[in-house]
Amino acid sequence: MTDLHDILKRQFNFSSFKEGQEETIESLLSGHDTFTVLPTGTGKSLCYQLPSYLLDGQTLIVSPLISLMEDQVSQLRKMGERSVVAINSTLDFSSKQYVLTHLSAFKFIFISPETLTQEDVLNRVKQLRISLFVIDEAHCISEWGHDFRPSYLALKDTLKKLGHPLTLALTATATSTVKEDIKKELFTQKPVNEFIYSVNRPNIFYQVQYCEDKTDYLLDFLSKNELPGIIYFSSKKETERVAHLLNASLPVNVAVYHGDVSPSDRIRIQQQFIHDEIRILCATSAFGMGVNKENIRFVIHYHLPDSLENYVQESGRAGRDGKQSLSLILYQSGDERIHRFLQEDSFNQKKDLLFFKDKTQEEMKQYNRVLTDTQQKWLVQLEKSDWDWELFEQNIRVKQFEKSNKMNSMTDFVNSDFCLRQFIMNYFSHEFISVKQEPCCSICQPEGTVLEEEIISETNEQAVFDGPKLLKKLFLTNF
Ligand code: ADP
Ligand code: MG
Repeated sequence: MTDLHDILKRQFNFSSFKEGQEETIESLLSGHDTFTVLPTGTGKSLCYQLPSYLLDGQTLIVSPLISLMEDQVSQLRKMGERSVVAINSTLDFSSKQYVLTHLSAFKFIFISPETLTQEDVLNRVKQLRISLFVIDEAHCISEWGHDFRPSYLALKDTLKKLGHPLTLALTATATSTVKEDIKKELFTQKPVNEFIYSVNRPNIFYQVQYCEDKTDYLLDFLSKNELPGIIYFSSKKETERVAHLLNASLPVNVAVYHGDVSPSDRIRIQQQFIHDEIRILCATSAFGMGVNKENIRFVIHYHLPDSLENYVQESGRAGRDGKQSLSLILYQSGDERIHRFLQEDSFNQKKDLLFFKDKTQEEMKQYNRVLTDTQQKWLVQLEKSDWDWELFEQNIRVKQFEKSNKMNSMTDFVNSDFCLRQFIMNYFSHEFISVKQEPCCSICQPEGTVLEEEIISETNEQAVFDGPKLLKKLFLTNF
C-alpha cells in the first residue's frame, strides 16, 4: 500500500496522524464502509481528504451548514487544492447551472442534504464517478441527536440511487441511540467498520472509588478477574513498587512501562501486552499513544490524573472493541496535592530563572552547574526566542493559571455528586448535550457494573446485560 505517512507529509505537511485518522483511512482504502467518531477539532476532515487523493473518482461530502462547508472549502484551498466546490443555497441560478454542468471537473464536491435531493442535482451527481461518499456531522440523521435535520433522512434513498458508493460517516457525537440511528439509516447494505474515539464512550463505566488503602483495593479487584487492563501512575517509582507487589500476589503477568524502560523493552512489552501475554500493565503516561489493543477491559488511575483531557485520553483506551469496560479512579482526599506540589515546583524553577534576566551569557555559564535539567532546557528555548524574557514571564503566568484550572476541574470531577459522564460531556462540549444511559457511572449506579467478558466466561453464552442477577453473581466493582 502507498505509504500514507508520505502523503500526509507531502500533501498536508503534518508529521503524524492523530488518533483515529490512520485506521479510518486504511479501512476506506481497503474498500470498507466506515463510521468514525472523533471529538470536535481532532481532524475528521483529513479522514476523507487524504484517501480522496488515492482514489480515482470524486469525493462528495454532505455537510449540514453553509458555514461548515465554506470552512472546509477554504481549508482545502489553503492547501493548494483548486478543484473544490460547494453547492448550496448561496449559489444563484446561473452559478449553480454552471457548476452542475462542470461538476466532473471537481475532485471535492460539498453539498447540503437539501440540495442533493433536488432532481436536477441528483441526475448530475448520478453521472459522476463517486469513489467516496462522505456524510459529515452524521448525527444530524438522528431524531435523538441535538441537531436533527429531516433532510438527512433522505440520504438512505440517495445512497441507494447512487448504487451504494464507498461511504464514510463522521461525527463527534456517539451516544448509543445516535450511533444506532446512523447505522440503521446509512449502513444497511454491508457490514461497516467502526472507529469510535469520542469524548463520550457509552461502553465505559466511570467509577471514582474512595479508598483508605489503594493497594488493598487493587489486589481485591484484580484477584476477582483475569481481564487485560492498564494501571496508570504519576510516578515511575510508584509504578515499580505496585507492579512488584502485584506480581508477587497475583497469578497473572504484570509488567512495567515508563520513560526509563529501554526502547527495545518498551516494544517487547507493548507487543506482549497486545497479545495477552502480559495481562496488566503498570504504566506512566508514557504508555498509550498509538497503541491499538482492542480488548482492554479496564483502565485504573492509581493517582489522580492532572487534567480531564489526559484522563479522558487514558481511560479511553479501554473498550475499543465496544464491549463493556471500566474506568476506575482510586481516590483519597488530598491526592491533588502531589500535582499542586509539582506545579508549584515547576513554577518556582521558572521564576528562579528570571535571576538571569540582566546577566550576560558569560555570567550565565558560571551558574550552569546549579541549574536543573528542566531549567537548562528552558534556557535553550529562551536563547532560540532571542532572549524574549517578557514572553517567558508571560508564559509562566499563563501556564500556571491553565494548569491550576485543569487540576481544579479534575478535582471537581472526582468529588462530583452528579453523573460523571455528564460531567465529562459538559466539560468538553460547547453546548449542553444530555447523556443518559445504563450502566453509566458510580454516581448513577453506585452498585457498580459487570464487565462484559466476565459474563461470557461465567455463563458461556452471548453477553446479555441481565441487571441485578448478574450484578450479584459476578463482577461487582463496588464492594
Ligand atoms: P473536526 O474533527 O472538528 O472536523 P478538522 O478536520 O476541521 O476537525 O481539523 C481540525 C484541525 O486539525 C485542522 O486545523 C487540521 O488542519 C488539523 N489537523 C488534522 N489532522 C492533523 C494531523 N494529523 N496533524 C496535525 N494537525 C491536524
Ligand atoms: Mg468537521
